[in-house]
Amino acid sequence: MKTIAEYARRFINGSREPIRCSACGSAKSSERRLISGPSCYICEGCVGETTSRAPASDSPGLCSFCENPGNPVVRRWPKLDICAECLDIAQGILTRDRL
Ligand SMILES: [Zn+2]
Ligand SMILES: [Zn+2]
Repeated sequence: MKTIAEYARRFINGSREPIRCSACGSAKSSERRLISGPSCYICEGCVGETTSRAPASDSPGLCSFCENPGNPVVRRWPKLDICAECLDIAQGILTRDRL
């Protein structure tokens, strides 16, 4: 199973297809980097605004990135779910990448 970090690395290494954040629908731009999952993307805006690590209270979802049923989803969008672990990795990538 690939980790979100491997997907992100692959993505940073140069996919050029037009892509959009699966959560908010924003297109990738120089102002808005995206991290890719198996079949979804999340932008830094959505990653950055998700600060809660409390499991989402509504029906249990499956993280769209790691697809690990053992990881509780902490944020849900209509087309995207993310667990705390993947959120932390994504935030780490974006922070490190910025420096
Ligand atoms: Zn977004
Ligand atoms: Zn996950």
